[in-house]
Amino acid sequence: MPIYEFRCGNCRRRVEIFTRSIGQPFDAVCDSCGSTELRRLMPRVAVHRSEADRLAELDTSRMPGDDYYRDSRNIGLYAKKRMAELGMSDLMPQIDEIVEKGRSGELLKEYAAAAESREF
Ligand SMILES: [Zn+2]
Repeated sequence: MPIYEFRCGNCRRRVEIFTRSIGQPFDAVCDSCGSTELRRLMPRVAVHRSEADRLAELDTSRMPGDDYYRDSRNIGLYAKKRMAELGMSDLMPQIDEIVEKGRSGELLKEYAAAAESREF
């Protein structure tokens, strides 16, 4: 099912619109404020790129925006690259494990379990 992505010109939110088939007309309306001032975002082409490519491409001179982390595969890339730049790559095995847990949602479960077991 094709997904079209827009940026709302009114509330600045990202809006995803699903259609049944390519070429089928649809109403581009922001689902949070109802505005029709939507600007089409470029389709994402990151699907087939390897982590090494995405690491190489990442600009660490500024923090990535929220949109970057909507792709769960990008979670942890900034930290990894910064650590490599700072010469801390020998810590990478642990980082890889933590990042993997972050991506799979396991890390959140562990936090939740830890919070539950804590006595107040
Ligand atoms: Zn809006």
